[in-house]
Amino acid sequence: MRLDALHLNTPLLRAAPGLFPQAEVWLKMDALQPSGSFKLRGVGRLVQQAAQNGAREIVCASGGNAGLAAVYAARALGLPVTIVLPETSSAAVAEMIAARGAQVLRHGAVWDEAHRFATSLAEERGAAYVHPFDHPMLFEGHASLIDEVRDQGLDFDAVVTAVGGGGLYSGIVQGLQRHGLHQVPVIAVETVGADSFSQSLQAGQAVTLPAITSVATSLGARRVADEALRLAQVHPTISLTVSDAQATAACARFADAMRVLVEPACGAALAALSAHPEVFARFQRPLVEVCGGVAVSVAQLTAWGACA
Ligand SMILES: *Cc1c(COP(=O)(O)O)cnc(C)c1O
Repeated sequence: MRLDALHLNTPLLRAAPGLFPQAEVWLKMDALQPSGSFKLRGVGRLVQQAAQNGAREIVCASGGNAGLAAVYAARALGLPVTIVLPETSSAAVAEMIAARGAQVLRHGAVWDEAHRFATSLAEERGAAYVHPFDHPMLFEGHASLIDEVRDQGLDFDAVVTAVGGGGLYSGIVQGLQRHGLHQVPVIAVETVGADSFSQSLQAGQAVTLPAITSVATSLGARRVADEALRLAQVHPTISLTVSDAQATAACARFADAMRVLVEPACGAALAALSAHPEVFARFQRPLVEVCGGVAVSVAQLTAWGACA
């Protein structure tokens, strides 16, 4: 079995001049992971560990980037993989996942129901369940992006990241802490309508959103992981929101400047630098996690009104 990491050490690029109002911005290009997003970092680690512990099958409830990462990792290790989708996810998503070699099952009206079904299915079959955002091994795997940037010697003074369920945020904080970077703030960005982290921090307790109303569906966790809320109390964290229009416009600007397409989920992080200049005034060298995502196309960006 493969023991080396399943994810790539992605390029660390300086942002093209004029892309952001700030002079020096660095981009960790996780959009270039073979599964299309950073998710492979944590999911790859989790699947590999499960295989070492004797798992014979992988099960994941996600029609998005976590599901794709689970399929990629399971196939790389030669394990069968079952992806559970809610009835509401599109036929196109089901086909894309099946084409990559997974069995697709449909269960439940929403993700929470698909998730409950998938966890009991995994237990029944002795399979390993891959949670999309809440598992210590995911945080551990996502932290590798900070290891890579530190190995390259970049001296950044803030990390900008999108937040969905908070797995990526938790991994970044873990990575900073293990490199002694306790003073480097994480700027955690959501779109309005998918802002469960921001609302929870304001309320001082976990808030469950009644619904997700943003086009940034990969940020659409109705409730964030407890670990993310715990870490926000111990690590300097600035929570920001941007509008859907700001996020999609940032995707189009990024595509023009860097020639890479990313989802609005990722566009949220990119948009923050021009949407909140007052926050970024105190940083000289921010690092942006370009988390990527496959649910985007030129036609889709145009339909969102991002390509004026
Ligand atoms: C999953 C995902 C996120 C959010 O990550 P969390 O760990 O859920 O916070 C952001 N962007 C993309 C493209 C994703 O796939």
